[in-house]
Amino acid sequence: DGGGNVRVVVRVRAFLPREIERGAECLISMNPITQMTTLHVPDDEDPANSRARTRKAIEEKTFTFDNSFWSHNMGDRHYAHQEDVYNSLGEDFLDHNFEGYHTCIFAYGQTGSGKSYTMMGTHEQPGLIPRTCEDLFQRIEAAQSETPNISYHVRVSYFEVYNEHVRDLLVPVVPNQPPYYLKIRESPVEGPYVKDLTEVPVRNFREILRYMKAGDASRTTASTKMNDTSSRSHAVFTIMLKQIHHDMDTDETTERSSRIRLVDLAGSERAKSTEATGARLREGSNINKSLTTLGRVIAALADPKAGRPGKRSRDVVPYRDSILTWLLKDSLGGNSKTAMIACIAPSDYEETLSTLRYADQAKRIRTRAVVNQDHIS
Ligand code: ADP
Ligand code: MG
Repeated sequence: DGGGNVRVVVRVRAFLPREIERGAECLISMNPITQMTTLHVPDDEDPANSRARTRKAIEEKTFTFDNSFWSHNMGDRHYAHQEDVYNSLGEDFLDHNFEGYHTCIFAYGQTGSGKSYTMMGTHEQPGLIPRTCEDLFQRIEAAQSETPNISYHVRVSYFEVYNEHVRDLLVPVVPNQPPYYLKIRESPVEGPYVKDLTEVPVRNFREILRYMKAGDASRTTASTKMNDTSSRSHAVFTIMLKQIHHDMDTDETTERSSRIRLVDLAGSERAKSTEATGARLREGSNINKSLTTLGRVIAALADPKAGRPGKRSRDVVPYRDSILTWLLKDSLGGNSKTAMIACIAPSDYEETLSTLRYADQAKRIRTRAVVNQDHIS
């Protein structure tokens, strides 16, 4: 049965040097047994939380998630390494992919909260994306000797949504040329897709890693010109896995296709419109339409009855109001097993509360994943 709730986990990172310098206190505690995450009230010393303290109802808040990953201090017995995050989430999702399900894991949180660290990681501490790629090819190589009647085909694509434009990250950036943007189409069978997006076949871990790095470099190259793209853009890394099974006894061939989507969202502080009234005029891209729409889509899916009376819930989910939500329609409310990783900084009361509330709402979303299997001959 592929019906199930979006799996929601939270991860808190270590202090950064600038936080240590200002003497920041950690406002987060996690219970490793109950998986509860608590956000504590900041004391009077930390200037970064002075605005939060002026609010009337500032109080301790507790949330329960499927996992609460404590990555704040490495000395702790419950410290969650990159490997732990992969083992408790990435591995399960890859199991689903081999069963024929589409999956999507997206990282949400303010800029600097650890989204890219969790999804991509570093050379020494690889994150979910490289670990998924490595495990994928290890499994394929193991299976090829055990089950020679199944053949495996892997393709990869990598794009970003920036300012409501889609940019192919596997097409090299040409210096002194304006970037070229791709269009979205919707097919009755496949749903929304990016037209003319590069999809490259890959045969092993080394090859897929090369494309992953090239795409990441393309994101960074552009960002030096476009003023911090990575906090404003959504990066979508997609692996397509096709398993073709030939039954020797019946001479029948079946095909299983699954899609693995790994999404590094723009910084969630970009979703706020309240303080932007003056700034918006000066800097139009301050508000991220895809991110605000994602919030509305999640709210509509989490609470379908809140929609307009007389309308079925799926008619009022505003997927098509932004590029990102249109493209991720299936992952958010349809044929996919989906997880959200809420990344939080240790000492920012307001942003963390907003992220935890967002994550709490996402827990209520149900998707309906099916095994994508076809008889081909
Ligand atoms: P985001 O992508 O959300 O803007 P980053 O992933 O770039 O944030 O993280 C901000 C900084 O914090 C980076 O220097 C990153 O290496 C560091 N960092 C984030 N999470 C962790 C973690 N779990 N352990 C160690 N360092 C981390
Ligand atoms: Mg980032």
